[in-house]
Amino acid sequence: MSMEAEVTTTGIKVELPKSYEDIKDLIRIDRLPHIWCPGCGLGILLKLLARAIKNSGIPIEKHVIVTGIGCTGRLGGYLKLDAYHVTHGRAIPFAVGLKMANPELEVTVVGGDGDILAIGGNHFIHAARRNDDINVIIVNNFIYGMTGGQYSPTTPKGAKTTTSPYGHYENPFNVPLLAYAAGGPHTWPGGQFFTKMSFTNPS
Ligand code: SF4
Repeated sequence: MSMEAEVTTTGIKVELPKSYEDIKDLIRIDRLPHIWCPGCGLGILLKLLARAIKNSGIPIEKHVIVTGIGCTGRLGGYLKLDAYHVTHGRAIPFAVGLKMANPELEVTVVGGDGDILAIGGNHFIHAARRNDDINVIIVNNFIYGMTGGQYSPTTPKGAKTTTSPYGHYENPFNVPLLAYAAGGPHTWPGGQFFTKMSFTNPS
């Protein structure tokens, strides 16, 4: 069962399923359909994040989402609240600046493993070390998805990617341990685990 259809900016009629009833005011229906591949977990994350924001008890207007570049970086654009889509790897320093300028804001960074742990890796460990008062959600799909399947800092050893066709020879980061070792006191590994992980295809 779905709710009433809305016509998007591209002229397509989109209906949200009934299960979106409680968060429909947080979803930018006019920007749908989203760009993600069928079956990508980012749609699930969008829904769960919207619900978490709704249930946080913090007014919607105090929430800010900051994203960098990549598939995950598009997430903020589908939420009806203040969202910043910034340069590659720089979502964390941007978020820290926002929080310092206005400590009343609830600032959440959402980014992929390439964005947060490669290009933005230094920002990640130093934000954890300083215990900056922001939320960071890392969507770890073990690869650079949007740019064609190059290996990232979390790609498992032995995985075949477009840049490791004979098998990846580097050790991956253990992300929760990295955050913990850098000083991050509140680190939770994965809310969703993808049981199907391909070693030959991107994402
Ligand atoms: S490339 Fe991977 S992360 Fe990007 S939208 Fe497709 S499945 Fe999702």
